[in-house]
This record gives sequence, C-alpha cells and structure tokens, in this order.
Amino acid sequence: MSNPQAVTDHLMVELRDVNKWYGEFHVLKNINLQVKQGEKIVICGPSGSGKSTMIRCINRLEEHQKGDIIVNDVPLTEDLKNIELVRKDVGMVFQHFNLFPHLTVLENCVLAPIWVKKLPRKEAEKQAMELLERVKIPDQALKYPGQLSGGQQQRVAIARSLCMNPDVMLFDEPTSALDPEMIKEVLDVMVELAHEGMTMLCVTHEMGFAKTVADRVIFMDGGQIVEENEPHEFFENPQHERTQLFLSQIL
Ligand code: ADP
Ligand code: MG
Repeated sequence: MSNPQAVTDHLMVELRDVNKWYGEFHVLKNINLQVKQGEKIVICGPSGSGKSTMIRCINRLEEHQKGDIIVNDVPLTEDLKNIELVRKDVGMVFQHFNLFPHLTVLENCVLAPIWVKKLPRKEAEKQAMELLERVKIPDQALKYPGQLSGGQQQRVAIARSLCMNPDVMLFDEPTSALDPEMIKEVLDVMVELAHEGMTMLCVTHEMGFAKTVADRVIFMDGGQIVEENEPHEFFENPQHERTQLFLSQIL
C-alpha cells in the first residue's frame, strides 16, 4: 500500500496572481500559492492581514476579481457548475463551528451527503457514525449542538465536513474560539487527519500544530504572502522584520 502521508505531484490548490478588493480596499495582493495533494499548509499573520479572505476564496465563499484559483483542476470562475464541483471537493471548518442548532449532531452530518450527494439515508448515517467515532463522540450523535461543549461541537464540524469525502480541508482558526482545555482535543483530530494524508490549509496560530504537521508555514501581512518556509526555519530563523515582530508577539 502507498504511504498515505506521501505528497504527490498533483496540484490540489493553485492561486495565481490572485487579487481581491472589498470596494476600494485591496485585501489580497498578487497571492501565489501552490498546494500539492497531501501537503499541509499553515497560514498565520496578524488580524486583518487577509487570511480568512484568502481561505474563503478557495471555496468561493468570497469572490476574487483578478488572477486564477484552480482547485483539483477546476478553475473557479462565474461558472456555477465549477463552483459546485469545487465545493464538493473542499471541506471547511470555521472558528464558530457553524452547525445547524435545530438539528441533531447526526442530522448535521447527513444533511449534505443526502441532499447534495444523493446518498441513501442509511448509508449516510452509517458513514456519519463512523466519522463521529473517528472524532471520538459517537455517543453525542442524537444531541443538539447546544448541548455539547465547544470542543465537541468543533469535532462535529470536522466530522460533518469529512462526510462529504473532501479532497482538501480548509480550517479557519478552528481552535481560537475554544476554552484552553478543549483546544487539544480538536488539534488531536486535525493531527490525525494530517497523518492520514489529507491535503490541509489551516489558518492557525497554534505553533505546536504547525511544527508537528505543516510542510510549509505561510506568513501573511497586508494582503500579501510575506514569507514562507518549512516550519523549523520559519520559527527559528524568520527572514522578514514583519515576521520577526509577529512571532515575538505570539511566541
Ligand atoms: P484575517 O482573517 O487575516 O484577520 P480578513 O480576511 O478577515 O483577515 O480581513 C482582511 C481585511 O479585510 C480586514 O481589514 C477586514 O476588515 C476586511 N474585510 C473582511 N471582510 C470584509 C467584508 N466583507 N467587507 C469589507 N471588508 C472586509
Ligand atoms: Mg480571520
């Protein structure tokens, strides 16, 4: 069997000279990024630097105005068919979980597989239970999100994304809304996912996570990628003044 951790040559996500404006405000400036299948990228940088915007452009929650974004060979354009295709391949986990509060954990997990993938309910439920087991909360399946801790809700959010069998997972500060004692249980799930070979782009300031799994760390500031390097070099030997300043503030 092939090594699930292996990075292949297939480009899963590619951003070429991507630019985006919010009105007059130039939020992403000539972003270039290539992510191969199986690679794990950590994105960090000060608040307001454009991290969320960049990550949200990759599944078209935000629209870029200039440049190319290509996900698993599909270019993101106005074409709704392409947007649908990309969204099927891309899972996303947000800071604030974004679970449906009026649906049980299990219903949250089977909704998209049943309605988008047309999976029979039985099959969708079986798969959801397997994934809830993987994130270690099968016993919470019939509860509502509000009855769960933040860490449990975030693990449901991860399981829910995985129910669509994504080829790439986007994480936008998945632990920053959590109480400290719950951060580890979510990071553990993310580390496991990384070891299983998932392609991952994670906006996070969890440097332990970055050092454990990241192939590359990207530092953004002012809508630009200022620096990128493998984690050891990035943390031990940051090149740019802005990176040094940022690291001195968070480490
Ligand atoms: P980060 O995730 O790095 O904190 P964001 O991508 O959220 O940064 O935001 C980058 C900049 O764009 C910030 O200055 C923010 O205020 C601005 N911004 C974000 N979303 C919008 C929006 N929907 N409309 C206008 N400005 C926005
Ligand atoms: Mg953000």
